[in-house]
Amino acid sequence: MHIVTTRDQMRTARAHHGTIGFVPTMGYLHEGHLSLVRRAKEECGAVAVSIFVNPTQFGPTEDLTAYPRDLDRDLQLLRDAGADIVWTPHTHDIYPTGATTYVDVTTLTDTLEGARRPGHFRGVATVVTILLAVTTPTRIYLGQKDAQQAVVLRRMITDLGFGTDIVIAPTVREADGLALSSRNTYLDEDQRHAALCLSRALNAVTAAWLTGERNAAALRACGVSIITAEPLADLAYFSVADPDTLVEIPDGSALDPARGALVSTAVTIGVPTLIDNVILPPL
Ligand code: AMP
Repeated sequence: MHIVTTRDQMRTARAHHGTIGFVPTMGYLHEGHLSLVRRAKEECGAVAVSIFVNPTQFGPTEDLTAYPRDLDRDLQLLRDAGADIVWTPHTHDIYPTGATTYVDVTTLTDTLEGARRPGHFRGVATVVTILLAVTTPTRIYLGQKDAQQAVVLRRMITDLGFGTDIVIAPTVREADGLALSSRNTYLDEDQRHAALCLSRALNAVTAAWLTGERNAAALRACGVSIITAEPLADLAYFSVADPDTLVEIPDGSALDPARGALVSTAVTIGVPTLIDNVILPPL
């Protein structure tokens, strides 16, 4: 496994391979990340993984310095998962001195995580543009766990003509339903238990959808009631939106069974705000 730091080193390492699957991460890896690496390994000649805690996607009051890191462990996990190249840039390798260029994906970033975290997707789109420009992968592997990020990056990759195929892989969960996240490490035992309200709410909404509930307000209320019943949970949003445009389905409207919906939520439990989502399948 080749470990590189600078852009030039990454370009040189990449040139040794034909088809490349690329998995961008912020490190502190778990099975969710590793599922992407393994899938990329199955589908591509070689796998490149980046580990970079990207400062531009954190707001001023967010957890940039506290974000968990363990590079040695990450590298061992990536070796075991079959990664070929790991890019661990320093901040100045990504943002050269004097950098003033940003990538803004509009409209899709006005809602959900974009509304809750102003500037977040500008940071994500900018770093992924730089990572793609240097790595020039055949395919990029992203997790459904960050549903809006996947929609935003798909739009960006199409609009900017990268020509990179996008694979969105399913959310990996603990046996009890909690979506794996590097931020779960902030939770104590009681909070870890309380965090199950996210998947419980999403499962209840899915069950309601599958048994015929089509009213957007009723589906939202079903999820909200489960989360607000959890004393340690502070609900930021619970959304039932169009899966492509991310536009919220209005209260009085019925969902189109042929389109389905993206149901997503953000809930603060102690320190971290956890996000999770499900897609209501078209019927
Ligand atoms: P992060 O390190 O949080 O930036 O995540 C890197 C990539 O892993 C993103 O594409 C995430 O969507 C994906 N990811 C994070 N958690 C999960 C999970 N539980 N299941 C599947 N993919 C995930």
